[in-house]
Amino acid sequence: MMYFKGCPKCHGDLYAGEDIHGRYESCIQCGYLRDLGVNEDLLPAMETFVIEAPKRGRKPRKKARQAA
Ligand SMILES: [Zn+2]
Repeated sequence: MMYFKGCPKCHGDLYAGEDIHGRYESCIQCGYLRDLGVNEDLLPAMETFVIEAPKRGRKPRKKARQAA
């Protein structure tokens, strides 16, 4: 996709691209680069996940008064 005269630096022609970092626009004339944001679909490794600690079995606690 092209954006003619869309470069804020030199008013050259921008073309849209996409790589591992996400989508970007780049100027053909001067090399200006603008990130458009991260494409999360390309970054499955960056998903946060929680590893739960093993839960303790629910053993009934002895009441302190009972032992006394
Ligand atoms: Zn430019």
